[in-house]
Amino acid sequence: MSEIKKVEKIVGVKGMNDILPADAALWELFENTVESVLKSYGFQQIRTPIVEPTALFSRGLGAVTDIVEKEMYSFVDSMNGDNLTLRPESTASVVRAAIEHNLTYDGPKRLWYSGPMFRHERPQRGRYRQFHQVGAEAIGFTGPDIDAELIMLCQRLWDDLGLDNIKLELNSIGDAEERSRHRVDLIAYFEQHQEILDADAQRRLHSNPLRILDTKNPAMQAMVNGAPQLLDYLGQESRAHFEGVQKILHHNNIPFTINPRLVRGMDYYNRTVFEWVTDQLGSQGTVCGGGRYDPLVEMFGGKSTPACGFAMGVERLLELMRASGEPVTRNECDVYLVHQGEAAQLQSFVLAERLRSAGLDVVLHCASANAGGSFKSQMKRADASGAAYAVIIGEDEVANNTAAVKVLRAEAGVKEDGSNQAVVPFDGVPDYLVDLIVGNDDHGHDHDHQHVHYHH
Ligand code: ATP
Ligand code: MG
Repeated sequence: MSEIKKVEKIVGVKGMNDILPADAALWELFENTVESVLKSYGFQQIRTPIVEPTALFSRGLGAVTDIVEKEMYSFVDSMNGDNLTLRPESTASVVRAAIEHNLTYDGPKRLWYSGPMFRHERPQRGRYRQFHQVGAEAIGFTGPDIDAELIMLCQRLWDDLGLDNIKLELNSIGDAEERSRHRVDLIAYFEQHQEILDADAQRRLHSNPLRILDTKNPAMQAMVNGAPQLLDYLGQESRAHFEGVQKILHHNNIPFTINPRLVRGMDYYNRTVFEWVTDQLGSQGTVCGGGRYDPLVEMFGGKSTPACGFAMGVERLLELMRASGEPVTRNECDVYLVHQGEAAQLQSFVLAERLRSAGLDVVLHCASANAGGSFKSQMKRADASGAAYAVIIGEDEVANNTAAVKVLRAEAGVKEDGSNQAVVPFDGVPDYLVDLIVGNDDHGHDHDHQHVHYHH
């Protein structure tokens, strides 16, 4: 090899994580569960770009929000001068796409998405600069029924994931006119307590006083608790909507508490808002937030269309899953194929393809730099692979047109004669293994089998 010029060691961007193979089974379990729950409510997936025009967020989310004030990854496209931003959330993108493609022309739509989001925050437990959200947006629905459905969908997901420590907090923030009447009184109240307001609150006093209610500053709690409550300002229609949501939740035994101080980070919300919170993740305890955002479609230039949605933080939910059950394990493959000699190697390629055609997951031993090709080292690889069976082709097997099948893991089944090894005619190996695997599978091994097991 020619001389290689080394570069300085490069590491990943701070706050942006690699998700390694050891975690793949947990992610897969989460993603499969989420997808099947969303499908069971008739939601359809939408995939929007990771990069959007900056104005989508700076106008859409509200100027005085954490995201727009200080968390956006914005840049100028050096090719054409466009102002672009890595999406910090997806509601704005989904609404943009719905308008652009006139998605609701033939009726309301239930949409969902999943993917990475980007916010320039201080990295800490449960808070990253690239993180993942799964969200749903129901566009074109007017009533409290869809609000309740979205909440019940979340409850079903927590149940299916075996998470029983997530609690629902609910509030209504009314409509713009109700909020503005409340706002006048709220500002007056905060002005009476100027000396208690921290710098953040001072700054928001006239721009976004509602957000002050959301403060995490302990020194402000008592004062904030005594502030005028938006709930007391709701008019008849908002109140009826809120009661409608609660009625459906009660009827379906979904527990919740009303938190009159609950507001959401983005400006586009109205009426129903909710958060799912846990006390098991330290201070980053909100795993999902959502609510109604009736003004947004019109704000973005679409026809006035009501909407409601939620977004959940995948990393926080995975941390709860890690804490709540036994580790999620994964059998990496069914078969590891071991071979000795050139003829055997050629045969093993043929057999591996036949086994895959029969639906099995097969790892074929290939040459590598740090392990010899000896029988012993190949068997070590086979053991480490997590495969249930090793299939071995050596000179004898080539000569006799057979293959040896060896059970590697006890639960894969020892045969009646007590041995854990059999010599099988070459052409019969796929059927032989499929029979063994289907026969040994007490959970009904469906043959697009998922190699994921989750224990409680
Ligand atoms: P917070 O008050 O924790 O900053 P937020 O109001 O900014 O939350 P949303 O915009 O509502 O959060 O996002 C929905 C969910 O996405 C949150 O409840 C959380 O679970 C998750 N989330 C938000 N920001 C991050 C982040 N930086 N890292 C990991 N997860 C996040
Ligand atoms: Mg935030």
